[in-house]
Amino acid sequence: MITSDRLLEHMEHCVKCGSCKATCPTYVLDTTEGMGARGRVMLVRALTREELEPTPLLAQRLYSCLLCGLCEPLCPVGVDVTGIVYHGLSQLDMHDPRGRMLRKLQREGFLHPKRTFGAGRALGPLLGPVAKKMGLVPFDIKLPGSSFRKKGMELRPEGEPVGRVAIFVGCAANYIYPQQGHALKDLLIALGYEVVVPEGEVCCGAPLRAMGMDSDAAELAKKNIEAFGALDADAVLSPCPTCTLAIKKHYPQIAGQAIENAMDPAEFLLGRVDHLRYKENPTGGATEVVMYHEPCHLAAGLGAGAFMRELLGALGVEFSEPVNKTCCGLSQAGVYPEISEAQLDALFDEYSKASTLVTSCPGCVAQLSRRHDNVRHILELLSANANPGA
Ligand code: SF4
Ligand code: SF4
Repeated sequence: MITSDRLLEHMEHCVKCGSCKATCPTYVLDTTEGMGARGRVMLVRALTREELEPTPLLAQRLYSCLLCGLCEPLCPVGVDVTGIVYHGLSQLDMHDPRGRMLRKLQREGFLHPKRTFGAGRALGPLLGPVAKKMGLVPFDIKLPGSSFRKKGMELRPEGEPVGRVAIFVGCAANYIYPQQGHALKDLLIALGYEVVVPEGEVCCGAPLRAMGMDSDAAELAKKNIEAFGALDADAVLSPCPTCTLAIKKHYPQIAGQAIENAMDPAEFLLGRVDHLRYKENPTGGATEVVMYHEPCHLAAGLGAGAFMRELLGALGVEFSEPVNKTCCGLSQAGVYPEISEAQLDALFDEYSKASTLVTSCPGCVAQLSRRHDNVRHILELLSANANPGA
């Protein structure tokens, strides 16, 4: 991802070939040029050059982007399509009338997640149905009794540590799926690492950028850079590839520097695969049909899809993948639910045949769980079945 001062110049690199439209989920649904990747690049270019005014239609074209990045690997000249769309969103000042109120409330939620999820936990049974009816929460999510992160955590393995790793847990894993944070922590400790979970972590800022709020996201980025920069860790790992993408690749655009040693757990664990031995068939009995859902931000964003496949293969996890690989559609579940539902429809032609769906992103787990009752994060699978050091 390029830095913001080169973004304008970068927009001029587009040769308008249209290759990026082939995998763009919103273009598959609506073949209007502005609903595809190339059209969005051209719209932001015109907006930036002040050849176009922000209008509700222009806002709808940009806000409906899933920000999945599936267009980027197809671009022959390496145009940073998502960086350009984020830049466009930041210029729109929330012109999209469809989601204005929801975005204002979500802004408060992501700036103060502890308060938001605390209120959700306390009042959820009472206010959940009302909030859902008002469109404030896109679908039912059951919140656990407690979150993953306590006050700053420093955990040591038995014996001398082989290294020191920091966990950036992210809001979804911290407040909704704490078992994913515990799985990563337990795996690292069993492998002999000292694990640090800093108290100063805040939201990675990705949801705010998706709403066009780059300055709010930049404030959060600065706090995370400060919290993680002082840890002297070998690596910063997150159960959420969207968080990893934000702190590693988006932060240079909005805060001038990255958390450089961030990487997906698959990349980190692949180098230690000799220390992971399974107690039993990791995905259960022969009758189980396991399908792997690849998160867009892992593959297209971080370029770590191959690490995950290699890791699964090296550990003997038997799985299949859908022919029609596409984005799960979570990011539009609130404001453009028809796009979100269409993505689920496309995936569940094949996913409905699986007894277990495995993925590696808490957001994908939440979205896929709307249609399937056995969706698991890969870290849970690894932590439950691996016998590190055996
Ligand atoms: S990020 Fe996804 S939805 Fe947006 S233009 Fe690219 S492929 Fe299309
Ligand atoms: S693939 Fe790249 S160069 Fe071609 S239209 Fe899309 S963004 Fe432009």
